[in-house]
Amino acid sequence: MNSPALVDQPTARPREPRRLAILGSTGSIGCSTLDVVRHLGGRDAFEVAALTGHTNIRLLASQAIEFGAEFVATADDSQAAQLKALLAGTGIESGAGHGAVIEAAGRDADIVMAGIVGIAGLAPTLAAAARGSDIALANKECLVSAGALFRKEIARGGGRLLPVDSEHNAIHQCLASGGRERLERIILTASGGPFRNYSLTQMSQVTPATAADHPNWSMGLKISIDSASMFNKALEMIEALYLFETSPDQIEVLVHPQSIVHSMVGYSDGSILAQLGTPDMRTAIGYALAYPERAELPVERLDFTRLSRLDFHAPDETRFPALRLARQAMRQGGTFGAVLNGAKEKALEAFIAGEIGFLQMAEVVEAVMSRYGSSNAPDSIDAVFAADAEARTHAGEKIAALRSAA
Ligand code: NDP
Ligand code: MG
Repeated sequence: MNSPALVDQPTARPREPRRLAILGSTGSIGCSTLDVVRHLGGRDAFEVAALTGHTNIRLLASQAIEFGAEFVATADDSQAAQLKALLAGTGIESGAGHGAVIEAAGRDADIVMAGIVGIAGLAPTLAAAARGSDIALANKECLVSAGALFRKEIARGGGRLLPVDSEHNAIHQCLASGGRERLERIILTASGGPFRNYSLTQMSQVTPATAADHPNWSMGLKISIDSASMFNKALEMIEALYLFETSPDQIEVLVHPQSIVHSMVGYSDGSILAQLGTPDMRTAIGYALAYPERAELPVERLDFTRLSRLDFHAPDETRFPALRLARQAMRQGGTFGAVLNGAKEKALEAFIAGEIGFLQMAEVVEAVMSRYGSSNAPDSIDAVFAADAEARTHAGEKIAALRSAA
């Protein structure tokens, strides 16, 4: 005889499909998001309102066909005809250029995955926020560059902001325990990247290919190199500042090479809460897509009996000056997030192009930041873009000076 259920089981009721747009669907976050969508029921669970890409239009078109997207956009306007040809006969609408990406972002969607890399993601994500969609935020540059203004747009639109960056997602999960007013500290963990144990001399000789080879996480090229220089953690400190509205000195960074503890929060009673898991972005993506429920995903489960150890140590700010620069940007406030990010993006492109060395990226950012005094918080998104553009110009000058001195 079956024993009676101890609690009433809710009748399983299929959820209405949720409308989803993915900005940057051809990237690492975009592809992982579509993988999560497949596992959560594919077209039965999600109506794909829009997908966007940039250079990889073959992949973009095949994703659109697999998921029955309503609209696809490539940011590259020279590829308009080719994208149309790839979608011929499918009934899928397409567009090309910056305006088309903005149009995709503003389509009717319950949730928008912000997975474009860099400041290029800001305007489309703002369009989605203004429309009132929930924002699953992978693009940390939105908060780093536009901070409070970005939050204001989200509040105005009325959607929710769900962090996908694994550290911030972990903190979001920890903060669900309540007691927010007694939060003392946020501890962002960092793997330390592939050069964690390198000397400065070794670091001065690394190539973009070795810098892109992250020991734990599989990510896009730029964020992988940013992880190696710890500029990724620098951006994440500023991201945390605006996301969780703390003061700069409540944000700590702790090197944790195994990437199992994804971040922690500390309360005034001495409690520390952490979120743990194997390093797989699908957990954070699934959390955002299923929120406030939980997704069921084939992510490798953590087996504590097989973990030999968890290490933690303080970061070395001499070898990784990005962290010191982030602290400076957080203290100075104003447009400093946009300046740091703009200079960093320009320096990163120069490193990838072989124009400057690995350690010179921080040298460029520091030189640009030193040109500014304190500034007021930007009062418009145009002011953010202006600060970004000016920082890139200054970074370009410093890069040219370094090249001619070499
Ligand atoms: P990728 O480089 O893998 O993908 C970037 C996406 O943006 C691609 O779809 C690319 O198109 C598109 N894109 C590139 N340039 C432009 C542009 N100028 N205009 C419009 N679209 C553009 O990056 P990731 O997926 O690794 O990262 C995306 C964002 O998520 C970044 O902000 C990153 O910091 C953040 N993030 C990523 C994590 C990860 O695990 N990858 C973890 C945490 C945060 P195409 O490929 O077709 O050229
Ligand atoms: Mg992260």
